[in-house]
Amino acid sequence: MLKLPIPDLILNNIYELKPEALRDMGVTLLLMDLDNTLDKYHALAPGIALRNWIDALKKAAVEPFIYSNSHGRRAGRFAGALGVAYINRAGKPDSKRLAALLRAKGAAPENTAIIGDQIYTDILCGKRAGIKAIAVRPIDLSNPFRRLRYGAELPFRLAYKRRANIKEKKA
Ligand SMILES: [Mg+2]
Repeated sequence: MLKLPIPDLILNNIYELKPEALRDMGVTLLLMDLDNTLDKYHALAPGIALRNWIDALKKAAVEPFIYSNSHGRRAGRFAGALGVAYINRAGKPDSKRLAALLRAKGAAPENTAIIGDQIYTDILCGKRAGIKAIAVRPIDLSNPFRRLRYGAELPFRLAYKRRANIKEKKA
């Protein structure tokens, strides 16, 4: 079946995602995109706000896990500094590695979520794997290529908003 990359939730940034809200959704494993989601592309080490957010997730018994398409040592450095596990070169939007990861961890798709800034990689990957998919606004859109890509994602962000409005009207 064709999976449309419409997020289950859209937030302005990761800090709007409260650990308690994840717990209420039944999520115990949170796969996190790194670049432009957790931090800027060229950030060398996590700042205090990010560290605190990660600690709050752990305290709420939600496992934070870096799931990045990046090459090189950056994901490993961030994961080490934050005390979380990671996978780089994840190959999103392909979801094979994600499915293998869930099997290896014994994690159920309904208890897993992915958060990321890109609709055609992070969100599509999550939809293909049958997990909850949470989109954030990219931290930095100053690069013209990234702004164009963000523009190309807008139909799916708007589709989410339409759905959310309909749900609100029904409630
Ligand atoms: Mg990203």
